[in-house]
Amino acid sequence: MSSLVQDHHPDCLFCKIAARKIPSKVVFDNEEFFAFHDINPWAPVHFLIIPKMHIPSMAQLEAEHAGMIGRMMTLVPQLAAQEGCNPYPEGGFRLVTNTGAEGGQEVHHLHFHVMGGPRPWARG
Ligand code: 5GP
Ligand code: ZN
Repeated sequence: MSSLVQDHHPDCLFCKIAARKIPSKVVFDNEEFFAFHDINPWAPVHFLIIPKMHIPSMAQLEAEHAGMIGRMMTLVPQLAAQEGCNPYPEGGFRLVTNTGAEGGQEVHHLHFHVMGGPRPWARG
């Protein structure tokens, strides 16, 4: 496993949010994942899903993470519906994951943005 992948990174904002050391509006919490509302939403529904394990970005994913990333993706439609995204195909949602500086990533703990709800949106 890459040394960049850790159970918990002491200086990481999203590790602290997942550990509830920093408050957030919680969407989902189990052993493996945490989901919470984005503090600066682009859309009527905008939340983030993170693995509790500290993985900086998609760039560190290896074959051993395939099961984890699959489970993370299957959470997306479940939580999108829970948070009020309208049903497919008239409704739906957008899934975004920014990777690295040129990919627009600001917080270096792997996260999926899930955005939805009626348009127009602030961005996206
Ligand atoms: P990135 O640019 O890394 O893909 O996205 C980071 C996201 O985290 C941004 O959309 C930003 O609004 C959100 N964010 C940054 N700091 C906080 C925080 O303290 N709490 C919450 N809930 N979201 C945050
Ligand atoms: Zn972290």
